[in-house]
Amino acid sequence: MEFKNPFTKAGFWFKGNIHTHTKNSDGRLSPEEIVRMYKENKYDFLFLTDHNKITECKISFKDFIVIEGVEFNKNNFHILGLNLNKIFSIENLTLQEIINKINSSGGFTVICHPYWSAIKSQEILNLSNFLGIEIYNNTCEQSKGKGYSLVHWDEILQENRKIWGFAVDDTHFLSGENQENDIFGGFIMVKAPLLNKKEICNSIKEGFFYSSTGVFIENLEIANNKIKIQFSPSVLVDFIGYGATGVRFSKKEEITYAEYEIKGNEKYIRIEITDKNNKKAWTNPIFL
Ligand SMILES: [Zn+2]
Ligand SMILES: [Zn+2]
Repeated sequence: MEFKNPFTKAGFWFKGNIHTHTKNSDGRLSPEEIVRMYKENKYDFLFLTDHNKITECKISFKDFIVIEGVEFNKNNFHILGLNLNKIFSIENLTLQEIINKINSSGGFTVICHPYWSAIKSQEILNLSNFLGIEIYNNTCEQSKGKGYSLVHWDEILQENRKIWGFAVDDTHFLSGENQENDIFGGFIMVKAPLLNKKEICNSIKEGFFYSSTGVFIENLEIANNKIKIQFSPSVLVDFIGYGATGVRFSKKEEITYAEYEIKGNEKYIRIEITDKNNKKAWTNPIFL
């Protein structure tokens, strides 16, 4: 079994969003305005990821960190290069070369909103050395109803690829007639020893985090072939594995605990929790 359990890692929980635009690309607010909003809403960190450019933030705080990043657009692929502080031209690069260049520049890579981009899982499977994909993108959900890319995640995991799932805002802070604001919808909870760039990035890369749109996971324990999980009051708990393995617990009354006995044929197990308002949390996969 292989699982980076954030609940057994020493440290503290930090809340953050890894995909944010400012008016330096197609967002509405300045970097300073958007950073202030996240800080005031009790986030701990924020990645600024304008399209094809690095955005710097001119304000800094003791207890909130801003990390540089880019959203590269290549054909219908959008790719986050995170912890990247220098831009490069992608004009003559293939998708794999873009990923390799992000990695060799000290950054890490997340594939954006596959459902919204009309990307097939097989196209993602053709790539390597990326950290994960966006499984929930708030702006794609609020504007087009195409926020969830969970089938993509499972199709990739079923091919024995070890990738993480990220919930993100992709904040633009636009609002229109049929569009809700896209801020404060998808986030990750990261366990790290300290709030600084290095430790947050290390924990994300290692997988010591879970994704959420509002459900909080309180504990996750694996012992004697049993997974035990505690969470904020919810009504659905899905233990999801390969094909038809796994199980759903669906309750009329809110519950805060569920357990699952591992059968051994699941290949991987990831846990998805839903509350009565359709807010969710997703653990990263436990690989068997
Ligand atoms: Zn995008
Ligand atoms: Zn974006």
